[in-house]
Amino acid sequence: MSSPAAVTCAAPDCEQPVHRTNRTGRPAIYCTPACRPSRNRTPRQNQITVEVEHPEASPDGRPTERVWAVRLKRGDQIVEIADGLGWPSATALARALDNLLDARPRPAAPGRPTP
Ligand SMILES: [Zn+2]
Repeated sequence: MSSPAAVTCAAPDCEQPVHRTNRTGRPAIYCTPACRPSRNRTPRQNQITVEVEHPEASPDGRPTERVWAVRLKRGDQIVEIADGLGWPSATALARALDNLLDARPRPAAPGRPTP
């Protein structure tokens, strides 16, 4: 019987040993679930994120800190959806895009009459 080499946690800042069980399936590489990279914390590679930022240059002479651009971003790819928006319009658009991209089913809002 060969004793398996001591395995340390795969998380970059963690030196804890990993307790491997005899369960079938993929062996654990992190000591605790807390060390596992969270899918929610870091965007997945193919995930599109919505960004609201000041544009590099103002489209119409207003100071750039008064105008907002809404962009969709995935990895290095950025698509600008709108430019020269005020803050309310920019955040409303970003929220609508967020809802569109978020495939998770949401419970219907209570009390809303059905058509
Ligand atoms: Zn760990």
